[in-house]
Amino acid sequence: MLPFCIRIIVRDWLNANSIALVGRQRAVVIDSGYGRDAEHTLSRISEALAGKHVDWLVNTHCHSDHMGGNAAVRNAHRCRVSIPRDEAPLIDAWDEEALWLSYADQRCDRFTFDDTIAPGDEFDWGDLHWRALAAPGHDMAALMFFCEEAGVLISGDALWENGFGILLPGPDRAARLSATRATLESIACLPVRTVLPGHGRPFTEVGAAMERSFQRLAAFERDELRMVRHVLKVMFVFSLMDRRRLAVEDLDDYLDSVPLYADFNRQYLNLDRTAFADLIVGDLERGGAVRRMDGFLFAV
Ligand SMILES: [Zn+2]
Repeated sequence: MLPFCIRIIVRDWLNANSIALVGRQRAVVIDSGYGRDAEHTLSRISEALAGKHVDWLVNTHCHSDHMGGNAAVRNAHRCRVSIPRDEAPLIDAWDEEALWLSYADQRCDRFTFDDTIAPGDEFDWGDLHWRALAAPGHDMAALMFFCEEAGVLISGDALWENGFGILLPGPDRAARLSATRATLESIACLPVRTVLPGHGRPFTEVGAAMERSFQRLAAFERDELRMVRHVLKVMFVFSLMDRRRLAVEDLDDYLDSVPLYADFNRQYLNLDRTAFADLIVGDLERGGAVRRMDGFLFAV
């Protein structure tokens, strides 16, 4: 049972969950969903806050599904915005490739922030005491937030009930894998009773979730191509959710036009167009994550 001051707004895979921490002094919101759905995000936040204003918006990390509503929330509430310290250079520069925006066919309204949060910083949010912890791996600059008295971890994409956010292959692969392992091990040392993940419902079977994550990590450690295929499929489903559908006849051109796919194919796979499309979409269809109807592809 969560303390009343902690309210999680469970969304989907396009929009990260938002978490509202409502105290006597102020209301803090963690993560703001994807830009396309910013209006819906605003109304879900208003519901969660029962009409109170957001005083402070914080991000676990700066990916489009977590910061996409930042501009809208800041505009609507005139609130303070804080991001993880090590994301600041990317956000200042608004580097569309490093932020995986145009590079991966994702969108995010540019926003400004007031200050940054570093691992070890402590806060009173929702009348509870929280500590920011480093959560590198999926995003090397990511943070998570832990409240010891409530045993609650706001994990972002560092730990879900079934796995964690995509890990990138490439030259930094070893560093990302070992950072992910260190982050999971640091969670295992915390007295966590409830995890509020970036995607999916809150969960209390923390040990079982950790076990699944360690297994996934071990599979990635053994096989870089598995990481490549996983990234391609996750990004494709994300874009299908964003675009709502894609014409089958446009699929090859679409994959050619988004730099992420072209780069990954060239660097790791060297497949012709048909084989590359089948590797991504065929696998997703066989697994039931994508379906084909009336000449269009849809995310399920
Ligand atoms: Zn996410």
